[in-house]
Amino acid sequence: ERRNPGQPEFHQAVREVLDTLGPVLAARPQYAEAGLVERLLEPERQIIFRVPWTDDHGRVHVNRGYRVEFNSALGPYKGGLRFHPSVDIGVVKFLGFEQIFKNALTGLGIGGGKGGSDFDPHGKSAAEVMRFCQSFMTELARHIGEHTDIPAGDIGVGGREIGYLFGQYRRITNRWEAGVLTGKGQGWGGSVIRPEATGYGAVLFAAEMLKARGEALDGLSAVVSGSGNVALYTIEKLQQLGANPLTASDSSGYVVDDKGIDLALLKQIKEVERGRVSEYATRRGPSARFVRQGRVWEVPADVAFPSATQNELDVEDARTLIANGVKAVSEGANMPTTPEAVHLFQEAGVAFGPGKAANAGGVAVSALEMAQNASRVAWSRERVEDELAGIMRSIHAVSHETAERYGSPGDYVTGANIAGFERVADAMLAQGVI
Ligand code: NDP
Repeated sequence: ERRNPGQPEFHQAVREVLDTLGPVLAARPQYAEAGLVERLLEPERQIIFRVPWTDDHGRVHVNRGYRVEFNSALGPYKGGLRFHPSVDIGVVKFLGFEQIFKNALTGLGIGGGKGGSDFDPHGKSAAEVMRFCQSFMTELARHIGEHTDIPAGDIGVGGREIGYLFGQYRRITNRWEAGVLTGKGQGWGGSVIRPEATGYGAVLFAAEMLKARGEALDGLSAVVSGSGNVALYTIEKLQQLGANPLTASDSSGYVVDDKGIDLALLKQIKEVERGRVSEYATRRGPSARFVRQGRVWEVPADVAFPSATQNELDVEDARTLIANGVKAVSEGANMPTTPEAVHLFQEAGVAFGPGKAANAGGVAVSALEMAQNASRVAWSRERVEDELAGIMRSIHAVSHETAERYGSPGDYVTGANIAGFERVADAMLAQGVI
């Protein structure tokens, strides 16, 4: 903490991983001898830069841009960009650190990185967002590349922003280098299923956890937080698999719909109009209501999908969910559940899928997008869906099996951390002290 002051999210993410690595470090002393943990905790490179831009009234604003290139033992740095006022170096480091293990778990040859800015896209015009993205990329371009570092989206960065970023990269470099960003539009190098992948994957992971206990998603009710990219496609896949998602939320509150979420309406409001979830309750009719500043976790349901942001589900929320009989929690967001809440779920026997495993579907399909870009061939929807399903099954299997092997059966946190760690650690050992 003395070395990295003022970075509580980074400390939280590191502590959560180190708490589970004891058995593997004891079993394989060569890791400690090679200083692996110390090296893993220090990013290979941290870039911080000025992002000046002009608003529609001619006023100049200055934001701060970040890219943390954390670990490239398994492949080029890979991880999203987040635009949100809460972004600082500690948040970017927590996300980058998590990304190392998540990417290792996919088995796809990608290192870990993350970036973003404290820019707040809410209330900005499309022209302002474009000018911001162009200024951000003007600096970022010198640090990234298809063989070096490949950013993607995250909170506040979706298809529109990736388009502006790609346009500026292409202009600066004079290269049509599709593989430099993922989450591109489908007419110009993007993969089918990339927008859906994280949410779909989180639901597939929950289905695998339930299957391991002899249960199924079909017929279960679900509580989902957020109403962005991850939440919308979590809701979509839940409905495809016969479950009934009841909620969505944003930073102003949540909506609950007794008939189940009308996804077409929610998509229209969020994706087309870029509006707020409260709108949904106004337009949906009597089955839905908006609860301002409410905790979505108070809605009784069989399965829960935190899909908004870090530390959005605390120990009180966990008590409520457990009292309401929740069977499984699958993290679509990164680190949405506080450590105390995770312990409560595990003690209560709730199947708990940590983000590193449960939300890895997004980055996995990003890696498939890179594969398509490299071969200049676009795959079919069926092929990408099949690959995604296979990857989620394999992440579940390796997390489950590793937890058992290290004496913590059913503990997906330990299983995912150790399985991801082993892959990165072995690559780092083989590549020497660098
Ligand atoms: P979006 O920007 O599309 O949506 C974010 C949603 O979460 C919005 O509904 C937003 O509400 C809400 N939210 C964000 N910050 C807060 C906050 N501080 N308090 C309350 N609500 C908040 O982002 P994504 O759906 O892409 O990302 C959601 C989560 O999933 C993040 O943790 C991200 O890291 C993780 N993730 C995303 C992946 C992807 O492929 N996109 C891949 C893996 C993980 P509001 O509009 O009011 O801010």
